[in-house]
Amino acid sequence: MKISEILKNDKLTVSFEVFPPKTSDAFSAVESAVNEIAALGPSFMSVTYGAGGGTSEYTLDIAKQIKDRYSVPSLAHLTCVSSSRESVKERIEAFKNAGIENVLALRGDIPSERINEDRSGWDYNHATELIADLKASGADFCIGGACYPEVHPESPCRKDDIAHLKEKTDAGCEFLTTQMFFDNSLFYAFLYRIREAGISVPVIPGIMPITNANQVARAVKLSGSFMPQRFSSIVDKFGSAPSAMMQAGIAYATDQIIDLFANGINHIHIYSMNKPQVAKAILDNLSEIINK
Ligand code: FAD
Repeated sequence: MKISEILKNDKLTVSFEVFPPKTSDAFSAVESAVNEIAALGPSFMSVTYGAGGGTSEYTLDIAKQIKDRYSVPSLAHLTCVSSSRESVKERIEAFKNAGIENVLALRGDIPSERINEDRSGWDYNHATELIADLKASGADFCIGGACYPEVHPESPCRKDDIAHLKEKTDAGCEFLTTQMFFDNSLFYAFLYRIREAGISVPVIPGIMPITNANQVARAVKLSGSFMPQRFSSIVDKFGSAPSAMMQAGIAYATDQIIDLFANGINHIHIYSMNKPQVAKAILDNLSEIINK
């Protein structure tokens, strides 16, 4: 099923993100986490992609299993940075042949070990070019893209970032998923600004449950997200007590989600990080709310 169809529905939905294994040895552990998350009946599941293509086969394998074995719609991520047009074309063909219906088209970030490589064979600068190639492939993909309520870290300013986001949706991106954020007011302000700029596609907020203190620094480094004092206090107080931090992180994410639902946002994507227990705990907290 296409995600654009799911998003037309007014029913409240929750979807989850999983990541593929980095090596074949880890495949069965990831498969079993995916199985448990799929059994929770999310509206869809997304599968990340290693920029540069390192784990590309696994992204496809996992996304195919999610839809074929568990009958949950899947969204396969695809990045284009440090890739040739030829290799991306092959990936698009493989997605098409596997019956993948939904693709999150991303630029990606250059992997640190490839920073000094010769870039002459790298054909892409921005996600918009990948969206154009997906559209031109002849496959009827539902295409999504990424957006950044707190501005993409490389953008010189918010205005430029939103102008390029508009190019992305004009190129055929049918929905957007946000970078994680920990203060909902930043998301509401972003939504207002992009609607004003004429971007009308559905925007799915991405919520990251922080369930251990080590995740905090990594999440902030990756996303540049603002950490509200209310959240920092939780980490300061419970960060050294793993089960307390897990409970507090789940409660904080649940609270963000309830506030989003209460303010008219119907679809939430959770960065579940291959943790079925976290996905389940959040859904349990929302059981009456989702089925209202
Ligand atoms: P783009 O849309 O290309 O934007 C990148 C920067 O370029 C922005 O600053 C933008 O304003 C600017 N820009 C865009 N077009 C132009 C233009 N024409 N001229 C000048 N500047 C321009 N990474 C992975 O490796 N694998 C994943 O699976 C993955 N999944 C993600 C899922 C979500 C929901 C999000 C939010 C991010 C994900 N990422 C993933 C990270 C993402 O790849 C990085 O944030 C990356 O830096 C930007 O990717 P993008 O697709 O947003 O890039």
